[in-house]
Amino acid sequence: MSVEQKDIEEFSELVAATRSLLLSEKSRGVLFLPVTPSEEFSAAMSEERGSTAGWARRNQKSPAKTEEVKRAKTPVMPSGYSQMSPELLKVYQDSKDCTKCSLAQNRTNVLFGVGPNDADLMVIGEAPGAIEDVKGEPFVGPIGEMLDKMLNHVVGLSRSQVYLVNGVKCKVKGGRPASQDDVDKCVDYLRRQILAIAPKVILCFGETATRAIVGEDQSVEQLRGRWHQFMEIPVLVSYNPAYLLKHPKFKRPVFNDLKLLAAKYDEVEGAR
Ligand code: SF4
Repeated sequence: MSVEQKDIEEFSELVAATRSLLLSEKSRGVLFLPVTPSEEFSAAMSEERGSTAGWARRNQKSPAKTEEVKRAKTPVMPSGYSQMSPELLKVYQDSKDCTKCSLAQNRTNVLFGVGPNDADLMVIGEAPGAIEDVKGEPFVGPIGEMLDKMLNHVVGLSRSQVYLVNGVKCKVKGGRPASQDDVDKCVDYLRRQILAIAPKVILCFGETATRAIVGEDQSVEQLRGRWHQFMEIPVLVSYNPAYLLKHPKFKRPVFNDLKLLAAKYDEVEGAR
């Protein structure tokens, strides 16, 4: 691939990510944004895109500047904070300054979770990515856009009907999976959120969510395509949407998993 082609592809991905974030802001009621992106936002975009990407490399800040950006990061309140039930609010208060595991030092925000207090479907993702860490919301950027499409087209639900949360609440450096120790230390918050929301169905995307909810012994590949249980709630496991962006051949298995999810969702909704 020529340098120009690669630049065009990278730029297109960057535009798609920016567009998705702007739509996300709009859905949160934000109508105006500063013309110049904040340093936090720019740093997160560079990190999400990978620090070795050509486009990012040519626009990289000096190490000293990057350090300043890290120090400038400011926590934000989770979206929907004022509507949280007392039970969820208690979990948020307990987790917002958590330092139980080593991931605390990587984060800008504890990614608490967003969605209705009584959502029937809970979607659990991996550890927060760079953009999610800055935004304080799960499933934003291109991954969020893909999730929205999948939920909408296959399950018939919009993002606002689903509770979105992560397997661990703080960013893992370098996009590595969270360690089992980190997952074990964070799972109590997730368990309490599940108790507070009492979803009828849970969908786990990716290895971290699966290890938190189903167990650590088997891979997503081995566990997907059939139902499991957590606190007597049916749980389905599938590949992380982030994985699909790099490996489109997994779209078909995920589509099949979501059809299973849609059938179960209709079943439990009908039983209410
Ligand atoms: S990942 Fe979970 S357990 Fe670890 S510091 Fe963050 S909130 Fe606490």
